[in-house]
Amino acid sequence: MAEEDIFDKIISGEIPAYKVYEDDDVLAFLDLSQATPGHTLMVPKQHVDSIFDYDDALAEKVLTKIPKVARAIKASDDAIIGMNILMNNGEPAGQSVFHSHIHFIPRYADDDLNLPAPSTEHPVDEQTYNERAEKIRKQF
Ligand code: 5GP
Repeated sequence: MAEEDIFDKIISGEIPAYKVYEDDDVLAFLDLSQATPGHTLMVPKQHVDSIFDYDDALAEKVLTKIPKVARAIKASDDAIIGMNILMNNGEPAGQSVFHSHIHFIPRYADDDLNLPAPSTEHPVDEQTYNERAEKIRKQF
């Protein structure tokens, strides 16, 4: 069996965490690094490294919980006026713990958090858009 990662140890209770939600399939707990107050991670109890490893059944069990967890976090504080929900998949995307997890980052007025936003500065010509879209369409 693969060595346990830090989130496996949180799930098993071997190391502590500030848990906010738990059911048979997922555990949600505060991120040690509170990017903003209430920054929460949700992890599948079944170990998968990243989004690329979810089958449909696991996706159904885990990803359908996102709105419920987001609403609970938002309801916890009237000052929360928005939320970034993000998932880093793979090292180049910023993933540092290789047990899939979803970040819920509540947003507040003037919270000064600067998340990298997708650039709008790389438009391409029509043929290139078509080629790129077709390359992806073919994979389904
Ligand atoms: P990633 O960069 O992989 O998307 O995010 C990993 C997150 O896990 C980071 O935001 C980091 O603060 C958080 N983290 C790492 N180790 C622990 C831990 O032991 N407990 C908790 N609660 N969060 C952790």
